[in-house]
Amino acid sequence: MSSYKLLLLPGDGIGPEVMGEVKKVIAWFNLHDIAHFETETGLVGGSAYDAHGEAISNADMDLAQSSDAVIFGAVGGPRWDDVPYDKRPEAGLLRLRKDMALYANLRPAIVYPALADASSLKRPLVEGLDLLILRELTGGVYFGQPKEITDLGNGQKRAVDTQVYETYEIDRIARIAFELARTRRNQVCSMEKHNVMISGVLWKEVVTATHKDGFQDVELSHMLADAGGMQLVRNPKQFDVIVTDNLFGDILSDVAAMLTGSLGMLPSASLGAADDKTGRRKALYEPVHGSAPDIAGKGLANPIAMIASFAMALRYSFGMVEWADKVDTAIAATLGKGFRTGDIMQAGMKQVGTAEMGDAVLAQLEAAG
Ligand code: NAD
Repeated sequence: MSSYKLLLLPGDGIGPEVMGEVKKVIAWFNLHDIAHFETETGLVGGSAYDAHGEAISNADMDLAQSSDAVIFGAVGGPRWDDVPYDKRPEAGLLRLRKDMALYANLRPAIVYPALADASSLKRPLVEGLDLLILRELTGGVYFGQPKEITDLGNGQKRAVDTQVYETYEIDRIARIAFELARTRRNQVCSMEKHNVMISGVLWKEVVTATHKDGFQDVELSHMLADAGGMQLVRNPKQFDVIVTDNLFGDILSDVAAMLTGSLGMLPSASLGAADDKTGRRKALYEPVHGSAPDIAGKGLANPIAMIASFAMALRYSFGMVEWADKVDTAIAATLGKGFRTGDIMQAGMKQVGTAEMGDAVLAQLEAAG
């Protein structure tokens, strides 16, 4: 039986509540000897600041670096609004992404049949939707230099952000896109704006070259990112894997998120380079939502995004694809049986809290497993 080391970082607000439900799922896998997950728990965000005066301690960073995967809850809250900028809760997440060099951000957008009416689009357009946005996470205009505001001395200022990509950054994210597509419907659509941005010209050139270098079995198409945004709301089911840069990925993944209806349903993964010995990538799995201070501590949070994030760890870090599918199917079945937390509540359905929703998913997993 395979053994894996997980670092759990529940964080703040509803983070520990939704992580509690993932712990039940992990315990279930251990109990049934499906895999052995050894867990350590650390502090991140405001809770780490309260304990150590930092948004994540060096000791917890070391644990993150040596773990097979980090499972992250959420950080932040009004209580830490006035802490120094470099110690704010989000700094913990940013340090994890930076120090672990997590350059690939995976955001699936899946519409469960039971929730198709919660989408901002009509049911036929989104029912059965299953696409994956792969966003480059550590380069591009958010990090490029110079990044500055200059006083021009005539009452005017000039602000500059720099969009910059090198070949290796585009090549490595394109490789992940093609590898992921092979585990899905084998299609990649690369989005940039080569018509007006020179970085887009290089992006398209490198993605095309990487495709020729051993990935020709995967269907590759290119689309201008603005047209891609339009197509995402016009006919989203045409896409399988979309690969794009940091800025366009930020925007397009939020658009895709809204196709699915609720923040409490959206998982994500961030992957880095593969380890030379194990071939396993550095990885962090987290729900897309934040710490939801408005409902924290009340047992109301929807744990599905957090549980689905753990399912992504099974799929992408541990090669347990069948079990990942079973967890996803258990989530769909739970929704099909009418269980709803407040954020996705619909007339005629059964409203439950965090723990009841987690138990219901586990019961479906038990029935299927
Ligand atoms: P949020 O995602 O925390 O909440 C937005 C709304 O969605 C709230 O009404 C909340 O109750 C609801 N919601 C979110 N997750 C839910 C869930 N699982 N179940 C039910 N309802 C849910 O975003 P926000 O309110 O803009 O931010 C709150 C705090 O979270 C801020 O401090 C922000 O900086 C932080 N934040 C952290 C992350 C992260 O940790 N990755 C991401 C976004 C925001």
